[in-house]
Amino acid sequence: MKGVCLLGSTGSIGLSTLDVIRLNKNTYSIVALTANKNIERLLEQCIEFKPVYAVVPDHDLAEILSNKLRLSVACDTRVLSGMDALEFVAELPEVDIVVAAIVGAAGLLSTLAAAKSGKTLLLANKESLVVSGDLLMSAVKENGATLLPLDSEHNALFQCMPDGYKTGQRANGVRKLILTASGGPFLNVALSKLANVTVEQACAHPNWSMGHKISVDSATMMNKGLEVIEASYLFDMPADLIDVLVHPQSIIHSLVDYLDGSVLAQLGNPDMKTPIAHALAWPKRHESGVSPLDFIINNQLSFEEPSFDKFPCLRLAYDALNAKGTAPAILNAANEVAVEAFLTKKLRFTDIPKLIEKAIKVSTIRCADSIDTVLKADAETREIAEKYLESF
Ligand code: NAD
Ligand code: MG
Repeated sequence: MKGVCLLGSTGSIGLSTLDVIRLNKNTYSIVALTANKNIERLLEQCIEFKPVYAVVPDHDLAEILSNKLRLSVACDTRVLSGMDALEFVAELPEVDIVVAAIVGAAGLLSTLAAAKSGKTLLLANKESLVVSGDLLMSAVKENGATLLPLDSEHNALFQCMPDGYKTGQRANGVRKLILTASGGPFLNVALSKLANVTVEQACAHPNWSMGHKISVDSATMMNKGLEVIEASYLFDMPADLIDVLVHPQSIIHSLVDYLDGSVLAQLGNPDMKTPIAHALAWPKRHESGVSPLDFIINNQLSFEEPSFDKFPCLRLAYDALNAKGTAPAILNAANEVAVEAFLTKKLRFTDIPKLIEKAIKVSTIRCADSIDTVLKADAETREIAEKYLESF
């Protein structure tokens, strides 16, 4: 049995991970589950999976969960609270696999803790890699951790790498990485119509069902921008060797272009349970619960260039990657503020890139040589972006 710590168990990735684990019950035991606010869902999960620990950062909510669990005789899960508790459960000796599925930079320290304690780290929380790329990759290398990407594009790229490939290495014979992008819900909506799109429209992704933050990121294409940065750190590739290709059907999840002209791709139905099952079972394979790909139903695969004019977030992300240092952390923090403001109806959709660009312009890019520097850049940028928000 492999011990699993699932950080962010009540979210979209968390639920899909538990679906895969339910199908492979004899292979995994859940050591820890964590959630931010959704206590009811976490309670149900504790009753079903009986983790040793459940973590809720907020003390009052943790207390409520603890009281509810006490009424349930079949479950003696210990409830912990505080952000430190997320790191504590990620480091437990009985944990073999940490699934990092918290959204945003809030997942940074627990992801880092898993890397530092040499775990098999299944990374969905792309923001932590964007914010602390070199630091996280060094922590993985220095502590003998295994970093496996859950993001579907990066998982596809990993599957297309040469035999024996480990993340963090520059693969032999690779010319380019090609990240596919669905183009999101506004691919075919005119730029002139984007100013008035609603939260509901932005979150209605054509192919994937996901949390709100990543859904808005997909609509602005910042998600693809963050993924370019993620790919650069995971596969040690510079920005100019990472292309984005719009592929609206989301059947090809990404491609590796080799020097000899071979292009390897990974295909499948757009369902996160496939990359999750791949990474959980790696280097073996097991069931994911995803239906086989039907080539007759999916007989039209099309491709187009992304529009940097319509989706300025993509350009901002390439620029941040080229600028290096704390620039990606600044980009990410400004984006988190802008997306939250859009979700709470304080900012128009087309003002998201404008707010991010303004915040980046006045922020100082430093060398990202310590986690404190990165956290400082994150905090400073949030303050700047919140201030600018008032002018929109
Ligand atoms: P979600 O919003 O559905 O779930 C987020 C989870 O994180 C929840 O369990 C929530 O309780 C927890 N959380 C939120 N804020 C927290 C905080 N401050 N402290 C502690 N826990 C907190 O998000 P999601 O769609 O599951 O995405 C999770 C991560 O996976 C994101 O980084 C996203 O970019 C990445 N990802 C998601 C998908 C997808 O299909 N959903 C695909 C690829 C990558
Ligand atoms: Mg993705």
